[in-house]
Amino acid sequence: MNEYDTIILGGGPAGATAALYLARAGLKVLVLHGNASALHKAERIQNYYGAADTPTGAELYARGLSQAESVGAEIRIDQATFCEYDGAQFTVTTAAGAYTARTLVIATGAARRTLDIDGVKEYEGKGVSYCAVCDAFFYRGKRVGVVGAGEFARHEYETLSRVAKETVLFTNGERPTFDATETYTDRIEKVTGENGRASGVTVGGKTVQVDGLFIALGVLGAAAISKSLGIMTTPEGAIETDKTGMTNIQGLYAAGDCTAGVKQVSKAACDGMTVAFAIIAELKNARRD
Ligand SMILES: Cc1cc2nc3c(=O)[nH]c(=O)nc-3n(C[C@H](O)[C@H](O)[C@H](O)COP(=O)(O)OP(=O)(O)OC[C@H]3O[C@@H](n4cnc5c(N)ncnc54)[C@H](O)[C@@H]3O)c2cc1C
Repeated sequence: MNEYDTIILGGGPAGATAALYLARAGLKVLVLHGNASALHKAERIQNYYGAADTPTGAELYARGLSQAESVGAEIRIDQATFCEYDGAQFTVTTAAGAYTARTLVIATGAARRTLDIDGVKEYEGKGVSYCAVCDAFFYRGKRVGVVGAGEFARHEYETLSRVAKETVLFTNGERPTFDATETYTDRIEKVTGENGRASGVTVGGKTVQVDGLFIALGVLGAAAISKSLGIMTTPEGAIETDKTGMTNIQGLYAAGDCTAGVKQVSKAACDGMTVAFAIIAELKNARRD
C-alpha cells in the first residue's frame, strides 16, 4: 500500500518540480512536506521565469504542489523523522506511518540560522530577510543592516552596499572579519518595528534605525536525515551530488537548497528536473535487468 517508485522529502520548488516530471513519466510518487519552506519567508518572488505577478512565496509554493498533484503525484503534509536503506529500498518513517520506495529524493531546503530575539519572527518577510541576492533590490537608496561577522555576512554586506544608501553591520557579539563604515559589535537585544515593518535594531541599549535587516549568520549544515543515511556533505554542510543529482548512495538523490550552489527558485527547480530525469533512467534500466 505504502510502496512507491520515488519518495520526495520536501515540497518546495525542488521537490515539487521533481514530482511533476516523475508523475508525468508515469511513476508512483509520494511528496512528504511540512507546508513551510524558504518560500514562505519570501515577501515576493520577482526573478523567477513567468512569476512576476505571483503575490507571495507561499502562493508559489502552493501552486507548485497543486500542479504536481494534478498530474498524479501524491502529496502529504507529513515530515520524515527517520530514513533507512537496506540496500534495495528506502524506508521513510513519519509521525503518521512508514513508506517505502526504490528511490529517494532529499529536497528539504537549507535551514538558515536566525536570531532568537523579539521582533525577528514577527518581521520576517516584512523587513527582515535572509537573502541579499533576493531582496537587495527592494532597498535601493535605503538604509539596511546586516547581522553576522563571517564570510556569508561579508557577501551580503557587499551585495547590499552596491544598492543601498547605507549599510550597517551588526556582529551580535562577534569580532568583525571585515571593515564596514558603521559597525555595532554588542549583542542585539531586539528588532523593533513601525507600521508592521522592521524599523530598527536595539543594541547596547540604543536603537539604530534601519529600513531592512539581513540576517547572515550562515547556512546550517545538511539535515540530520542525510547524516543518518551516510550521505557525503561538503564542509559547509551541503549534500554532495554528481551532475545527475545522485548522492554517494545509489538511488538516493538531492536537489535544491540542501545541495551546494545558489539558493534560488530557478536553481532548485532545475535540480528537481535533473534528478527526475536520472530517476526515470535508473528505474527504466532496472526494469530491463
Ligand atoms: C526571505 C527569502 C526570500 C527569498 N527570495 C527569493 C527570490 O526572490 N527569488 C528566488 O529565486 N529565491 C528566493 N529565495 C530562495 C528560495 O526560496 C529557495 O532557493 C527555494 O525555496 C529553495 O527550494 P527548495 O525546494 O530547495 O527548498 P524549500 O523551498 O525550502 O523547501 C523545503 C521543503 O522541505 C520540507 N521539509 C523539510 N524537512 C522535511 C522533512 N524532514 N520531511 C519532509 N519534508 C521536509 C519543507 O516543508 C519544504 O516543503 C528566498 C528565500 C528567502 C528565505
